[in-house]
Amino acid sequence: MAGVGSEVTQCKVGDRVCIFPTIACGKCYACQEGKETLCLKGQILGLVRDGTFAEYTKIPETSLISIPADVPYPQAAIITDAVSTAYHAVVKRGRLQAGEKVAVFGCGGLGHHGVIFAKLMNAAKIIAVDVIPGVLERARQAGADEVVNAREEDASDKIKKLTGGMGVDLGPVVWAWIWHWSSWGAARQ
Ligand SMILES: [Zn+2]
Repeated sequence: MAGVGSEVTQCKVGDRVCIFPTIACGKCYACQEGKETLCLKGQILGLVRDGTFAEYTKIPETSLISIPADVPYPQAAIITDAVSTAYHAVVKRGRLQAGEKVAVFGCGGLGHHGVIFAKLMNAAKIIAVDVIPGVLERARQAGADEVVNAREEDASDKIKKLTGGMGVDLGPVVWAWIWHWSSWGAARQ
């Protein structure tokens, strides 16, 4: 924190903070229910207001989260988006149970962490689907048991083949532009 405005009450210069990526109004029904990502007046950084490639940016203190001393900046920087979105989809919304099978569609920043959470939840089988070989290799290193290049083969057919025709229990669809995708993109069978 390089500076604070006159109405700031919780933060002070020098605080280590990360940014909740949606600047929420705090007043609409979604905000009142603690679902700030669905805020009716939500402003996505870099989409409808200035992003954070700038050296300095101005953020309301209600959108800041304190970083624990033992968490380094590079990890804290992705926790509020790439990590928390995947957590919400796989653990909270998807309710993945140990022993279940999961297919993660799209294994960029979000899907990569989806694979990691599926592994941490002791999924019986994790199938990673993407179209980029390097991304699929990274997903395998993160814990995917099987990888499917949807550019080279039919993902649906391959998933059925890999699961004895049964399909998977959970299939979070990870697409960067659907910022609240995990509300409806985590389909359970
Ligand atoms: Zn709101």
